[in-house]
Amino acid sequence: MSTNNPVIGVLALQGDVREHLIALAAADALARPVRRAEELAEVDALVIPGGESTTMSKLALLFGVMDPLRERVAAGMPVYGTCAGMIMLADKILDGRDDQETVGGIDMTVRRNAFGRQNESFESAIPFQGLGDEPVNGVFIRAPWVESVGEGVQVLAEVPAADGPDSRIVAVRQGNLLATSFHPELTGDHRVHAYFVAMVENAH
Ligand code: GLN
Repeated sequence: MSTNNPVIGVLALQGDVREHLIALAAADALARPVRRAEELAEVDALVIPGGESTTMSKLALLFGVMDPLRERVAAGMPVYGTCAGMIMLADKILDGRDDQETVGGIDMTVRRNAFGRQNESFESAIPFQGLGDEPVNGVFIRAPWVESVGEGVQVLAEVPAADGPDSRIVAVRQGNLLATSFHPELTGDHRVHAYFVAMVENAH
């Protein structure tokens, strides 16, 4: 592994893998799909795409990558999870399936399909801390929200809530781990991927 020219994997068990490979390439990163533990060992960082977290969890166990993933996260590998990928990075989930496991790593509780009850899919202009004045276009598809975070977690973006608290957390960072409820890989705006690539380049 080298940090000069880091290689970023995209977990390719299920979900919108291709869109992330394209967005990472557009953010000047070397990117490749990762399905097996041997492939995971060869990358410096990983994106966990959007898709269906229950299926992704099952396949990660079946392909034998769940434990290697947990070990790499514990060892400090940078990981960015979008939507289902955010769920995979949560230490705790609500409204998951009984047998659903996560990789974990971010001290947060994430509620699956949380916006679904109000609004299955929607787009929203979201100010994103660290990305300047221009908001990102948040594309939400049966998206989770972050119900609560621990002390070490930085909140990077929130959206106004339809009910309950004033806002809902939709982007967080804890150390080398980044997660968004929404899908920047679908918008053609690669600033969030560039933010992650910078995280990878600065990781040690
Ligand atoms: N609802 C999905 C899940 O629980 C996530 C949706 C998405 O990734 N677009 O995994």
